[in-house]
Amino acid sequence: MSKHTRLMALSLLSFLRVGSLVLALGILFLAPAQAQILKPVGEGIYAFVGENFTANAGVVITDDGVVVIESGSTPAVSKAILKEIQTLTQKPLRFIINSQSHPDHWVGNYVFSPPALVIGHEKMKGEILAMPPNRLAGIRATYQDFRTALPHITYRDKMALELGGRQFELYYLENSHTQGDTAIWLPRERILFSGSTVYTTRAPNVRDGSTTGMLKALDFLATLNPKVVIPGHGPLGEAKDIQQMKTYISLLRQRVGEEIKKGKKLDEIKTSVKVPEFSHWDRLAQELPANVESAYFDLTGLPKPKHEAHEEMRRIAGIVEKNEGGGRSITVKAASGESVTLSVSQSRTAISRAGKPAKREEIKVGEKIDAEYDAAEKNTAASIKIE
Ligand SMILES: [Zn+2]
Repeated sequence: MSKHTRLMALSLLSFLRVGSLVLALGILFLAPAQAQILKPVGEGIYAFVGENFTANAGVVITDDGVVVIESGSTPAVSKAILKEIQTLTQKPLRFIINSQSHPDHWVGNYVFSPPALVIGHEKMKGEILAMPPNRLAGIRATYQDFRTALPHITYRDKMALELGGRQFELYYLENSHTQGDTAIWLPRERILFSGSTVYTTRAPNVRDGSTTGMLKALDFLATLNPKVVIPGHGPLGEAKDIQQMKTYISLLRQRVGEEIKKGKKLDEIKTSVKVPEFSHWDRLAQELPANVESAYFDLTGLPKPKHEAHEEMRRIAGIVEKNEGGGRSITVKAASGESVTLSVSQSRTAISRAGKPAKREEIKVGEKIDAEYDAAEKNTAASIKIE
């Protein structure tokens, strides 16, 4: 608070006498506050919580420079984080640590690197290198200044990083949310950046991982007994949220297992198994079928079909005919008469309006859009450009 504001608040307080301390306190809180996208979770440690469950990130300031954890769901978010880091410290950017290969966790790495060096699990880097070229082309087309900034440093089992009086421990979570997940642990402060193995109020996505790996990873993370958990997406949590995620995965596996014993087929199980205990979670309805599928393959030991292999990228340009569920489902009609209903994902669809990032809620009926989507993956849009 500035001296001026404090004086104003004080004179108001004396003006009101002891009349209403509550009112005066209210005025103090109304004093101009700086919008801060980085929330302190420890001394010199900050969490960025993405809007509407978009990817989270973190910033750790050490005596010898800054470590960025994840980089924000889009380069625009990364740039906003960088701007705020520069108001907090003049120290140089040293490292970025990524938790996974999904683009919304590393697409903005280039905003920090160079000068920062990128660290990630060797399989995370491998997954990005194996990404279908179309998906990378989609990212390039969406963000004009985009550059791929992949891990310079990879590790296999675990890794320790010591910088400017801080300790970081990186743990490989095998086959959990993806094949190459990393949990980042600050042992002194007992702060955990869990990646997407832990969410607090959102259904997990185990499409590219496994429920078996998730359970193993959650058991391990629970032994750390963190004070603060910064999940891959959504609100911050604590140790009990690790247990909660374990309960969800365990219930899911138990119910899928019962159906398998009854001799049911995967398609039937996908519609019969519910986990209503977690119906308040974000994205439960969307993630459940894929979660059931993962549990089914984990429990039967049958080989799980690869999703990536079925990718079929297509493009449509036309007018928005319908927008349902606040932008979750968009119907586009092309001049040729072809009409496609796209599934728009908060984390997997890059949306831009006149080159600037936009939100799915803002897409209006009658607007002209140009979209790239995966026809093999329920027409999930990879990118939507609004003119
Ligand atoms: Zn992910």
